[in-house]
Amino acid sequence: MNKQLIFKKRPIGMPEADTWELESNPIAEPGEGEVLIQHHYISLDPAMRGWMNDTKSYIPPVQIGEVMRSGSIGIVVKSNNHPKFEEGDVLTGWGGVQQYVVTNGENWYKVDTNLAPMPMYIGTLGMPGMTAYFGITEVGKIKEGDIVLVSGAAGAVGSIVGQIAKIKGCKVIGIAGGADKCKYLIDELGFDGAIDYKSENLATALKRECPKGIDVYFDNVGGEILDVALTRLRMHARIIICGAISQYNNKTAIKGPSNYLSLLVNRATMQGMVVMDYAKDYAKAAQEMGMWMMQGKLKSREDVYEGIENFHDTFKRLFTGDKKGKLVLKVKED
Ligand code: NAP
Repeated sequence: MNKQLIFKKRPIGMPEADTWELESNPIAEPGEGEVLIQHHYISLDPAMRGWMNDTKSYIPPVQIGEVMRSGSIGIVVKSNNHPKFEEGDVLTGWGGVQQYVVTNGENWYKVDTNLAPMPMYIGTLGMPGMTAYFGITEVGKIKEGDIVLVSGAAGAVGSIVGQIAKIKGCKVIGIAGGADKCKYLIDELGFDGAIDYKSENLATALKRECPKGIDVYFDNVGGEILDVALTRLRMHARIIICGAISQYNNKTAIKGPSNYLSLLVNRATMQGMVVMDYAKDYAKAAQEMGMWMMQGKLKSREDVYEGIENFHDTFKRLFTGDKKGKLVLKVKED
């Protein structure tokens, strides 16, 4: 049987357990030219919260009654004359929160688990890593000597953003929740400084860590932190709007920045990005990041939980911050 998480009810605010229902349905047979994939891991991403809203976005919302959309990785267990993929291939794609998926293979990519473990292919070498890479290099246009500030710094995207900026010769300050995460940023990831937004006054801490201001702010959280970051811009600063997790469960309108005139004063740029726009260059980026990992310059951390039954409890960790690095759920039963 195939355990599938069905989207049942659009949440208002933080999703409750009744947002989804776990169903057990017969495993589908692959048709001609299709493959059956057994999922091993599901990617848990903040974007999933946005996909539950019935609003226009960069991708259509998940519909009630559908399997909850998610990134995933698994092994082909049956190929019905698929032109590219055969049994035993490890594939990553958008398989959803379920144990098996049948697909024609479109937008699925074969990966080599001799080079990296499966969870890393949905983390640093997958969508979040690509977001970090293209966000900080192409949108942020970092150059040696830049002062880079990143929020959500201990997470899947933020931790990679900061490390890439270090590799490129920038000074990097991270914002994260809690002393333990801040210590992790400095001691393990090599950041130059860290701010604990849960216990420090943001404006004071930013002045301390970035006395000369900020050239690049990579924003994963929006809200208050974005607003304070705007007060520290240097001339021609770049702000990358990657996400706004602090606002995703709002029951009222999203809080926008009030300090935006700092863009005018500093001739600064604030630009949104969607990782999918860079899909054609993913392989090149993954190759470069793989090389940095082999050279010990880039560290990847995955926080893996087990059991499709535990989806809701695990998903909530994205918003409580009770995890480090990339949040992953193992759905294959041993
Ligand atoms: P993540 O950082 O691994 O996990 C989310 C983290 O956000 C939590 O660990 C928590 O860390 C922090 N957080 C939660 N609530 C917060 C709040 N109210 N204020 C400040 N921080 C809060 O997630 P991710 O996958 O790397 O994603 C990071 C951001 O990038 C998200 O906004 C996501 O939507 C966005 N994203 C965008 C794209 C794109 O193409 N534009 C692609 C991927 C991801 P703390 O313990 O530090 O609070």
